[in-house]
Amino acid sequence: MKDPQKKYIAILGSTGSIGTQALEVIRNNKDRFVVEVLTAENNAALLIEQAVEFRPNVVVIGNEGLYSNVQHALEPLDIKVYCGVKALASVVEMEDIDVVLTALVGYAGLIPTIHAIKAGKHIALANKETLVVAGDIVTALARQHRVAILPVDSEHSAIFQCLPGEGMNEIEKIILTASGGPFRGMKRADLEHVTKKQALKHPNWSMGAKITIDSASLMNKGLEVIEAKWLFGLEADQIDVVVHPQSIIHSMVQFQDGSIKAQMGLPDMKLPIQYALAFPERLKSDYPRFDFTQYPALTFDKPDTETFHNLSLAYDALRKGGNMACILNAANEIAVEKFLQDEIAFLEMPDLIAECMAKVPYIVVPTLDDYIQTDTQTRALARAYTQVKVK
Ligand code: NAD
Ligand code: MG
Repeated sequence: MKDPQKKYIAILGSTGSIGTQALEVIRNNKDRFVVEVLTAENNAALLIEQAVEFRPNVVVIGNEGLYSNVQHALEPLDIKVYCGVKALASVVEMEDIDVVLTALVGYAGLIPTIHAIKAGKHIALANKETLVVAGDIVTALARQHRVAILPVDSEHSAIFQCLPGEGMNEIEKIILTASGGPFRGMKRADLEHVTKKQALKHPNWSMGAKITIDSASLMNKGLEVIEAKWLFGLEADQIDVVVHPQSIIHSMVQFQDGSIKAQMGLPDMKLPIQYALAFPERLKSDYPRFDFTQYPALTFDKPDTETFHNLSLAYDALRKGGNMACILNAANEIAVEKFLQDEIAFLEMPDLIAECMAKVPYIVVPTLDDYIQTDTQTRALARAYTQVKVK
C-alpha cells in the first residue's frame, strides 16, 4: 500500500553525481520520500549498496553483462532486477512512481523521459540533453499529459524559484550565470595544449565527467540556453549569459518593468534537487548558509565566445531550430568522448561540432524518428571526422 504522505521516486542514474546527491536528500527526508526505482549503467557495486540501503522495488542495470551479479546480490531482499535499455524505458511506467528524476547523462535520457511523461509521471529533470535534443516534442507531451517538468539544473531551478507570485507577468529576459569553468580568462593560444586532467578540475562544482568538460568548453552553458528556451518558452534573444565566477547567484529573471529577481546561495546541487523533489514545498535543511560579508566582491563579466566557440554554436542551433540542437548535442557527446580519450584536442571540439552542423541534413519540423535518426547520423559523422583529423 502506498503511503499518501510520501512521494515515490524513481532515480535514473542513481550512481552518478546527481543521483548520489539525490539519495542524500532522500536519506535526510525519509518521512517524505520513498525510493521506488534505482538505475545505473555500469557501477553495479554502488547500485547494490544503494539498493540494500533504500530497498527499492526495482533496480535496472544498463550493462547486461552485470545482470547476474546484481540479481544474485538483491534476490534475497526481494528486489526485482532488470537490465538493458528497454527495461529503463518500461520501469518508469510503474504505477506507484510519482516523480522520475532523470539523473542519467546524455541522449540516453530521451526515450525513458518520454515513456515517463506518457505514463503521467512528473519529471525532475537533471538530464538537460533531453530538452536539447527534442525540447519541442518533450514539452508538448508534458502539456498533453499534464505533467510538470521540474528543473534540477541549478540555473533553471533559480529561474523557476523566481517565478511564483508572478502570475501572468511576462518575462522580459533571463540571465543565466556561468562560472566560466577552469579556463576562464584564457585565450585560444593558452588552450591549445590543455589536458583532460586540467579540464576535469572545475573550480566550484564536483560533477560527472561529461558535464565537467562541457563546463570547461562553455558547451554546458550553451546546452542550458537551449534547455531554458523549452522550460520557460523564451526566444534566443531573451536569454543572456553572464560570467559570475563565484557561483553565488544561480541565475536571474528580468521582468517588463526592468525589475530583476535573483536566486542565491552557496553552490550545492542538493538544494535544487531537493526543491524539485519536494516542489511546491521547501524542506528544512542544515546545509551551510551563505554569508554576504564573506563575499564582498560578486563579479560579472561577458562570456568570451571568440575563445569558447561552443556557446555561439549553441545559440546558432537554437536560432536555426529544427533538428539543429539535436545535431549539436550528438556531435558534442562524441567530441567530449574523443577528448577524454586523448583523440582530439580541446580546441578541436567546436570544430567537430560545427562540421556536423554544416553536414548533417537539416530538418525543419522533425518527428521523434527524425531526431533518433539525426542522432545516429551525427554520431557516425563525428566519429569519422575525428579519425580523419587524427591520421
Ligand atoms: P554522472 O556521469 O556522474 O552520472 C551519470 C549516471 O547515469 C550514472 O548513474 C550512470 O550509471 C548513468 N548512465 C550513464 N550512461 C548511461 C546510459 N547510457 N544509460 C543509462 N544510464 C546511464 O553524471 P552527472 O554529473 O550526475 O549528470 C547527470 C545529468 O545531470 C547530466 O545530464 C548533467 O548534464 C545533469 N546535471 C548535472 C549536474 C551536476 O552537478 N552533476 C548539474 C546540473 C545538471
Ligand atoms: Mg547548470
